[in-house]
Amino acid sequence: MSASLAVWKFASCDGCQLSLLDLEDELLALAGQLRIAYFLEASSAQVDGPYDLSLVEGSITTAHDAERIRKVRASSRALITIGACATAGGIQALRNFADVDEFTRAVYASPDYISTLASSTPISAHVPVDFELHGCPINKRQLLEVISAFLYRRRPRVRAHSVCIECKRRGTVCVTVAHGTPCLGPVTHAGCGAICPAYDRGCFGCYGPMETPNTASLDAWTGLEELDLVRVYRTFNAAAEPFRKASESHEHD
Ligand code: SF4
Ligand code: SF4
Repeated sequence: MSASLAVWKFASCDGCQLSLLDLEDELLALAGQLRIAYFLEASSAQVDGPYDLSLVEGSITTAHDAERIRKVRASSRALITIGACATAGGIQALRNFADVDEFTRAVYASPDYISTLASSTPISAHVPVDFELHGCPINKRQLLEVISAFLYRRRPRVRAHSVCIECKRRGTVCVTVAHGTPCLGPVTHAGCGAICPAYDRGCFGCYGPMETPNTASLDAWTGLEELDLVRVYRTFNAAAEPFRKASESHEHD
């Protein structure tokens, strides 16, 4: 019998769901084993839960969503979070370093209509998560590996080493060594295939922190000013613990 799949969206841009849709041919190959039961971006048809596998995109930014994710968890046998928003809070977690009311007043003509939490948090801060797939957006081949691993009840083969390893594997000349270009590759989670250095630019960390990143060592030789170091860590994965700590260590009054 095929496993039922549900795909859920919280605060996010939909890019990770598009990575799933981009799997077209590969998903067809899994059609006998996977039945899409709930995926509003792909189909308005909805089958009620419980579901065998839920993929969750997006972070929690409202009280309503904090309640909704608990219901999603209760109706899912396995729950996998996909992308920087779901695994780290996303770019919207920049609010965690600021006054959200001040932001709201500056952006909206009628801030009274806005109902939002003071912080953006990953799904794992609210419910147990079975696996986190990093990236902004996620890599579709890694997603396929994670779905296949779920179907065959094995551990996903998704390595947690740095982008530098991928850079070496594809034979890219290091942009830092060759040109002095600052690069977050040594502290960033692999998965993209080291795209940016292959196009002669530094990594800006969109896959989030690797396992045990040594940010202090990297920061010492980037040549960047303190304020720039705060900024490089405050992007899509600003609230991921190692990047949050690194940015705060360079923040001075
Ligand atoms: S270019 Fe960046 S990711 Fe590639 S080896 Fe150099 S520091 Fe690492
Ligand atoms: S920013 Fe870094 S992790 Fe993101 S695609 Fe570029 S090299 Fe990969």
